[in-house]
Amino acid sequence: MRTAFLVKYGEIAIKGKNRNMFINQLRDRIQWKLNKIGDFTVSKDQGRLFVECQSENIDSEQIIGAIQKVFGILYVGEVKVYDKGDYAELAGHIKEYVRHNFERKDFTFKIEVKRADKSFPYNSMEIASKLGAELLAEFPELKVDVHQPQEKIYVELRANTYIYSKMSEGLGGLPIGCSGKATLMLSGGIDSPVAAYMIAKRGVELNAVYFHSPPYTSERAKDKVVELARIFSDYTGRLKLYVVPFTDIQLDIYEKCPHEELTIIMRRIMMIITEKIAEQTGSIAIVTGESIGQVASQTIQSLNATNAAVKLPVFRPLVAFDKSDIIKIAEKIGTFETSILPYEDCCTIFVAKHPVTKPILEKIEQSEKNLDGMEEKIAKAIAEAEVISIYPKSEAEK
Ligand code: ATP
Ligand code: MG
Repeated sequence: MRTAFLVKYGEIAIKGKNRNMFINQLRDRIQWKLNKIGDFTVSKDQGRLFVECQSENIDSEQIIGAIQKVFGILYVGEVKVYDKGDYAELAGHIKEYVRHNFERKDFTFKIEVKRADKSFPYNSMEIASKLGAELLAEFPELKVDVHQPQEKIYVELRANTYIYSKMSEGLGGLPIGCSGKATLMLSGGIDSPVAAYMIAKRGVELNAVYFHSPPYTSERAKDKVVELARIFSDYTGRLKLYVVPFTDIQLDIYEKCPHEELTIIMRRIMMIITEKIAEQTGSIAIVTGESIGQVASQTIQSLNATNAAVKLPVFRPLVAFDKSDIIKIAEKIGTFETSILPYEDCCTIFVAKHPVTKPILEKIEQSEKNLDGMEEKIAKAIAEAEVISIYPKSEAEK
């Protein structure tokens, strides 16, 4: 008998022709996640993945916890693997399974059997009821309850015999890498790390851009952004963070444009720079943490005015979320505590007392005409961007 881990995936099973690509991505992502913990092999078997560990002394909870963070998974749990044998051997296995895996033997149960291997002389229902009878004879305090059992015991007859009961829920979604690549505008706030998580959950690989305005924003503000990226990379996988020097551009806008339009013009230029970095790095969309009405720069009119600065689609996975819902996710993924550390960001320093909430595009474009030499400034900022490789804490820097 060996201990392994069974992974059930959902949505990806229905993706027709792309199915194999999805499953291979999922397998690779799981493999990657586990490399740091030990020596594992992940193999495909008819709609399931099996993770086997070659290392000694495995900590099942740690392994399940790691696998649970891989998008694309519905359930994961420990499974006992037995060599294929005849019915008498199978009956022995299930008794051994119950003896060793349940502390008390007085629960109600149901057995579910799946046969990929049809060589047994009974069908699945017959095997389930025969095995149930074997267990009742062996452990007299057990009771069968086919409607609301306390424990379901699953038996799968494949190339090997697999027995399992408890499964933990996965996050759903699609494996990273299945849906192309996007560039995230990452600030040190609560929202953009959550946006990273949400969009990555749909299988999108990320890189990120942070606009840094020293000395108005401190090194500690930048470190906070790096730390946030490191935390969410546990879900999104490793990524590159482009730290773009933004001070000159911001001062220029401050000097030459009407103050009530500062934020909107600044955001448009951030978008333009992000789009250029996206195009240079193979991204096909921009992602932000904006949500309708949260602040003056996030009215629908303002969002339209920023969209108009770029051609790539701008995805805002939090567009309809309340702050309280966003905070719940931030807490779940572990970014909240870092996000609320009180370091300034570049938007809070240059904000006007009364920013426009319904910008008119023609007027904004007119104001931007004052920004002579902006193209060169943008090119310089991109050329001088610092590129930081972000790895999840749980992964070695390879
Ligand atoms: P967050 O909590 O993500 O900072 P916020 O509610 O503070 O969002 P804003 O500051 O208006 O809202 O920013 C809206 C979005 O613009 C952010 O979610 C992020 O995607 C992007 N953004 C803002 N500031 C920066 C920055 N300095 N660098 C990169 N992107 C930024
Ligand atoms: Mg912010």
